[in-house]
Amino acid sequence: MSADGMRVVVVGAGIAGLTAAVDLMEAGADVTVLEARDRVGGRMHGIPISASVVADGGAAYLGTQHTELLSLIRQHGLELASTASPGDSTFLMSDRRTTSASRMPPLNAVALGDLFDRLEAVVAQVHPEAPWRSRRAESLDRLSAARWLADERMHPDAETFFPLFIGEMMAADPAAISVLHMAFYLRSGGGIRFLNAFEGGAQQWRIDGGSHLLCSAIAERLGERVRLRHPVCAIDQDADDVVVHSLSDVDGTRAEFRADKVVVAIPPLLAQGIEFRPALRWPRATPHTGRGCAVKVHLSYPEPVWRDHGLSGWSVSSHGPLLSTVDDSPPDESAGVLTGFVTGKAAAAFSALSSEGQRDEVLAHARRLFPQLPPPTRCSVTNWLTEKYSRGCYAALFGPGDWLRLGPTLTEPHGRVHWAGTETSVEFFGLIEGAIRSGQRVACELIHAADAADDSRKVMSR
Ligand code: FAD
Repeated sequence: MSADGMRVVVVGAGIAGLTAAVDLMEAGADVTVLEARDRVGGRMHGIPISASVVADGGAAYLGTQHTELLSLIRQHGLELASTASPGDSTFLMSDRRTTSASRMPPLNAVALGDLFDRLEAVVAQVHPEAPWRSRRAESLDRLSAARWLADERMHPDAETFFPLFIGEMMAADPAAISVLHMAFYLRSGGGIRFLNAFEGGAQQWRIDGGSHLLCSAIAERLGERVRLRHPVCAIDQDADDVVVHSLSDVDGTRAEFRADKVVVAIPPLLAQGIEFRPALRWPRATPHTGRGCAVKVHLSYPEPVWRDHGLSGWSVSSHGPLLSTVDDSPPDESAGVLTGFVTGKAAAAFSALSSEGQRDEVLAHARRLFPQLPPPTRCSVTNWLTEKYSRGCYAALFGPGDWLRLGPTLTEPHGRVHWAGTETSVEFFGLIEGAIRSGQRVACELIHAADAADDSRKVMSR
């Protein structure tokens, strides 16, 4: 199969766009990647937190079901770092601090078991390839996850745990997502147990040195085909070709790129902001489509000091700002890194604080969680809510009504424009794995189209 000479512009140098671009380049296409930021990787972003340590400011974790990601990691000679960290977990539930060997908060186990059973029952109803065709799709899509919880009338401990679970899994406030989206996300990510677990689950490993290294390695293969600081603002097409317009938000420079096909590999709320001529037949987002809200905080220590106290660094708090913390120290223990997550409604309030206010809140929370530890030497905050070129972290959130409205046309080409990005993947939606699979899918789509055009030219010339 080949795409020899086909001119393709890829919009967005996240892992989805980069995967599509490299697959197309290898099939012989003439590829240009236009990236708005001054770096590649999008939601995979390395944050230097000391002279020798780079932490994952965005995506970090992966597990055995992430087969395409694992294969790319191997192909690019990168190493995995285990997230296993022995020791007790720390919990701060209603301001009461406890520690225990379990990763689950000290809540009524029967109530949590009942919650998971009911979640599994909804997850089982979701059509894995076409959520909009699920049994009772319409009613599940109409209902918010918050309303679902209220209607289920569960034990108070299940009600306490549910927003923590959705905040951790989806960086979402349950009021902002439909039950169909919640159930689809949990199913598409490999099931509740896999998604929720570290060992044997979706958080088993990190990429040693940071997940951005994978994006940099792929971008290196693409070389000068990747153009940074080229935010795409408009896409014109007619019967002959397509013209992609970029407009620099730094100095107002305009540029035009002519192509046979375009791959738009950016989150849906941003795709909706591009001017398409002719206009899109189907929207990429609706007024109900929200953004996941995540702020990542890195607390640096000279070494993983909590281990000396028999603690794993894993914590869960019912009152913010830090919903959870994880030990993300480098494997050689040359530094101690605790990653904290602020998500959902708490992230919006946290984001509105000054940097000093954010730091004070985080340090006060760290003192309540780990009173026996010295203060961290540094506190770095990565606020995805203010990232103009992400609009949704971990991913976009489909609100009530969105799956029925947007789902059926998520990957439907708009003439010469094709779609990629983690939010177009029904497998591992919202995750790196979903983004990679979307890039592979769109590259196949274009290569098949080129092959079909080539076959019909041969038939005509006979
Ligand atoms: P993006 O990475 O968003 O790439 C889109 C690119 O397009 C960006 O580079 C952007 O700058 C660019 N762009 C946007 N608009 C334009 C424009 N108009 N013109 C040109 N370029 C444009 N996933 C996991 O698997 N495991 C995790 O542990 C995990 N944790 C996460 C934690 C956080 C805090 C965040 C933010 C995300 C996390 N994710 C995780 C999700 C994961 O990062 C994403 O699913 C994945 O990186 C999405 O890739 P993408 O290529 O689809 O989109």
